[in-house]
This record gives sequence, structure tokens and C-alpha cells, in this order.
Amino acid sequence: MVDVKKVAVIGAGTMGSGIALVAASSGYDVLLVDVSEDQLAAAQKYHAKISARSVEKERITQEESDAALARIVTCTDMTGLNDVDWVVEAATEQVDLKKKIFQEMASHARDDVVLATNTSSISITDLASAVPEAEDRVIGMHFFNPVPVMKLVEVIKGRATSETTTARTIALSESMGKTPIPANDFAGFVSNRVLMPLINEAFFAWEDGVADPEAIDGIMTLGCNFPMGPLRLADHIGLDVCRDIMLVMHAGLDQEKYLPCPRLVELVDAGRLGNKSGQGVYEYGN
Ligand code: NAD
Repeated sequence: MVDVKKVAVIGAGTMGSGIALVAASSGYDVLLVDVSEDQLAAAQKYHAKISARSVEKERITQEESDAALARIVTCTDMTGLNDVDWVVEAATEQVDLKKKIFQEMASHARDDVVLATNTSSISITDLASAVPEAEDRVIGMHFFNPVPVMKLVEVIKGRATSETTTARTIALSESMGKTPIPANDFAGFVSNRVLMPLINEAFFAWEDGVADPEAIDGIMTLGCNFPMGPLRLADHIGLDVCRDIMLVMHAGLDQEKYLPCPRLVELVDAGRLGNKSGQGVYEYGN
């Protein structure tokens, strides 16, 4: 265990709720912050459901589940960051919003606290520029979805990230049962530089009429041995998140090939965000 007792997670959506649960299950006290009460309530429901399933499958005992859930406290503002030992930001993938959040994080947290971001694609150096006084403590700590299941944490140093911050991030990731792997600070890092163009191309294949979504996913699942087709994976990730990642890579890598497919953008504009909104490429009901 690293010298951390309490972790704050900013953003209680798909990723923040998962990171909070994994941190609490690893013995850390957790402060989960979101501007939306509804998101915090949904995160608590998700925590209860996943923990109950783990008890049912005898991966943990009822007592362990109760103790983990009791370690998570929710809040709609960042004032509670004054007594945390670590912050992971997992809010919406938009540069200006994240920079504002980083300024708030730095203004509330102690000056020895690591300010990590779960961004999928935004430059760590760019985010750190919003908090010049804390640049050495800003780092990419990129978890994967669903966080309780996926082992990888992609660790990305910005220009000024210190070796101490990096070593502590690796240790914290390992203490949560994850495998940290380093990547350099380019838009999309490794994971999304490779994955998102594939997902985007699946939308183009659908838009062009090459095949319908079921056939595209079926072909990629059976033909390439993927555990899930790219369009269904996009629904899991969140179609808005996929669009935002493509836009960040388009801006950061300055190449037309990273423009999001119009079909993807249309679905997002129609409020079809994937699993989290009940409809995306596919229908999910409630
Ligand atoms: P999401 O849309 O599910 O959740 C984002 C949350 O951020 C929402 O609950 C929103 O209310 C909250 N938020 C917005 N502004 C806020 C603020 N000022 N303060 C506190 N909370 C605020 O998104 P997500 O899928 O959880 O993605 C979060 C981050 O994780 C993004 O940077 C994304 O790129 C990254 N990421 C996503 C995935 C994925 O598969 N979805 C995987 C890895 C990384």
C-alpha cells in the first residue's frame, strides 16, 4: 500500500463510479464528487449492484462488501478535497472543462497530493498548464472500462511530471490490482490512437452501407476474434466519449483521418449515447 488513505474521484459517470468502487474495494476511503446529484445516485446504485454480484459469486464476503460501500462518501463540490491524499479526475472529456476542474482541484488539495487524470486522449502537459504551481504532480492515470474488470492503467507523464509522481502512480495502480503500462504524451496515447480510428471506421462502414451494425460487429467478433464488435464497444464506452476523443486527436495530431464519422456525431446529437442513455447504435431499454 502506498502512503495514501483517502482518494477523491472527480466525476461519477461510467469511469468515475468504477474507479471509486475499485479504490474502496482496495481499502481506500473515497470521496466521489459530481456536479450532478442524479449521477451520484446512479453511481451508488451501480456500486450496490456490482458488490452484490461479487458476494453472490463468492469473490468477496458480505462484510467486505459492506465495508467497501461504507468507505465511499459522495459530494457535489470539491471542498472535501482538503483532507484527501490523491485525486483522480474522471469528468467529461473536454479540455476547457478539465482545466477548470484542475484549477479547483489544485486550490483545495494539499500541495503534496497527486492530481491524476483519467483522460482518454487529452495532452497531460496541456492539462497541467492550467495549474503551473502543481505541474510536477499532474499525471495521466488512464483506467479502462469496466474498471472493476479491466486490468490496465495506461500511465502518461506530462512534460513536468516528476519521477516521484510517476513512481507513486505506479504503486497506487498496483495496490488497486491493476497493471500499469507507460505511454508518451500524444493525443490519444496508445490505447485510443489505435482503438478509436477502428471504431470510427466501423461507423463509416455502417454509413456507407457496407453492412448493418449486427453484421459489422458479427464479422469483427468472429473474423478477428474480438470479444465484442466495435459498434457495441462504442456503445459501452459512450458515443459522446468516442466523438470527443476523435475531436481531441483531430486537434492534437492535426490529421483529417481523425475527424469523427458523421453517423457517430448524428447519434450523439440525437442523445443516443450508448448503454448509459439506454440507446446508442443498439437499444438497451432501461
Ligand atoms: P461520463 O459522461 O459517463 O461521466 C462524466 C461525468 O463527469 C458526469 O457524471 C458529469 O456529471 C461529470 N462532470 C462534468 N462536469 C463536472 C464537474 N465540473 N465536476 C464534477 N463532475 C463533473 O464519462 P466517462 O465515460 O465516465 O468518462 C470520464 C473520463 O474518463 C473522460 O475523460 C473519458 O475520456 C475517460 N475515459 C472513458 C472511458 C470509457 O470507456 N467511457 C474509458 C477510459 C477513460
